[in-house]
Amino acid sequence: MTPPSSGIFSSHPSLLAGRHILVTGVANRWSIAWAVVRSVVKNGGRVTLTYLGESQKSTIEKLLEELPEENRSSLLLPLDVKNDQDMAEVAERLRSEGITLDGLVHSIAFAKREELDGAFLETSRDGFLLAQEISAYSLVALCRAFAPLMGAGSSVVAMTYLGSERIVPHYNVMGAAKAALEASVRYLAYDLGSMGIRVNAVSAGPIKTASGRAIKGFSDMQKAVSDRAPLKGQELTSEEVADATSALLSPLMRAVTGEVLFVDLGYRQMGMF
Ligand code: NAD
Repeated sequence: MTPPSSGIFSSHPSLLAGRHILVTGVANRWSIAWAVVRSVVKNGGRVTLTYLGESQKSTIEKLLEELPEENRSSLLLPLDVKNDQDMAEVAERLRSEGITLDGLVHSIAFAKREELDGAFLETSRDGFLLAQEISAYSLVALCRAFAPLMGAGSSVVAMTYLGSERIVPHYNVMGAAKAALEASVRYLAYDLGSMGIRVNAVSAGPIKTASGRAIKGFSDMQKAVSDRAPLKGQELTSEEVADATSALLSPLMRAVTGEVLFVDLGYRQMGMF
């Protein structure tokens, strides 16, 4: 049976109409965050983007030219999540532009390459702490910095992976970081719930991006999904992950918070055989 083409799914320009989403984590056109930007825009939303380092800035400037004209001048601001001052400056800039946020997308992770190979047992102290800081604590820091700019009905979405709850060889230190990220999603959902702000995660199946390819055995992970998932024979796309993210950002999901939504062609539900 031929898998359905993603082309049959049209956009819903009213889904995110009038909503302004801060999207972190665009490194290049393969980044999940770039697919999120395109999905938000096609569904009627507006975006502010952040970048890490000057070379990322010029890459994103070129990507922005591919968006519809009204989105090409989207704000693009520097943000290293290790730096609280950067977050304060982004928040201040948004305030000075009169922008209030309806959503925040955390699409950020980092681990030293050597920690994503070999034994988890050999994880170094600083490698463990660095992965936790950039990949998990950053969500807490971003929510604290940007919640004051969000009103009731706003939505925060973080990207996570199955390696948080299952053993995925070589995912190692990132598995521990994603477990912390998902726990943080739940506690943040509790804290921010009183302000009407929702916090969820999307657990994406393997997608070929710079971060994905840094994990040893990444193509085996992709093959396992394509061979064994209920929706077999398909390659999961970043567009599919991004559209699920737009759904979580939208009022359609207004009663959903503290959840991890698996967007993995159903792979996580499979038993051993
Ligand atoms: P990517 O490499 O395109 O994105 C990772 C981003 O993290 C980059 O933009 C990078 O600049 C950013 N980043 C790293 N350190 C940072 C810092 N100190 N401050 C600010 N930004 C920083 O790869 P991706 O696959 O698009 O990853 C996005 C998210 O999706 C990550 O959380 C990743 O773990 C998650 N995810 C990816 C897959 C996959 O298979 N690709 C699967 C599940 C979840």
